Amino acid sequence: MTATEDRASARRRPKEGPEPAAPRAPGPERTCVGCRKAGPPAALVRLVADAEGKVTVDHRGRGASGRGAWVHPTRRCLKAAAQRHAAERSLGVAVDPALSADALAEALKRALAQKALSLLLVSARTGSLAVGAAAVERGMDGPVALCLAAADAGASAKVLAERVAERGVRVLIYGTKESLGNLFGRGEVALLGLRDARIATELCATIDRLAGVED
Ligand SMILES: [Zn+2]
Repeated sequence: MTATEDRASARRRPKEGPEPAAPRAPGPERTCVGCRKAGPPAALVRLVADAEGKVTVDHRGRGASGRGAWVHPTRRCLKAAAQRHAAERSLGVAVDPALSADALAEALKRALAQKALSLLLVSARTGSLAVGAAAVERGMDGPVALCLAAADAGASAKVLAERVAERGVRVLIYGTKESLGNLFGRGEVALLGLRDARIATELCATIDRLAGVED
């Protein structure tokens, strides 16, 4: 390898370390209660607490009332927020025992899974969702914006998912055959194909966030 190539590959190497700097966007920024860095609202999630101190996620990012705490949806920022008791302070609730990182992560995971579910149901309701490997295969000639494959999908479904990916369609592993099947009142479903690009983008972001919380 020449010195030039060496420098080029060093530049390509992804940087390690703290939260990547969010692109500066116009509009008000929000400060993460975990890492204390500010960023555009879209990069953070807003936690809200109800009267009993139960913490949930406000997906619209602007709850009608009450206080909220903004945090990056990552394990590290949730942990930092819990250690500093920052969420309780921002939420203005006395939580006993103190909100642990696990409790925050669980609340966030529940909310994100719920959001993924509602996006899938909207997609099904609007007729833009192919449910099952056979339906995905039949719809392959048309526009497919995203494919979800169950973690325990069988060999033939995996081959089909690879063919979908070769067409430049993003394939995400999500749920199990049983959990995907349950969504649609079926036994087992290995593959889902989304045709609506807007829903697909939102679902991708939601599943990516889920993965960030689980790390
Ligand atoms: Zn943060």
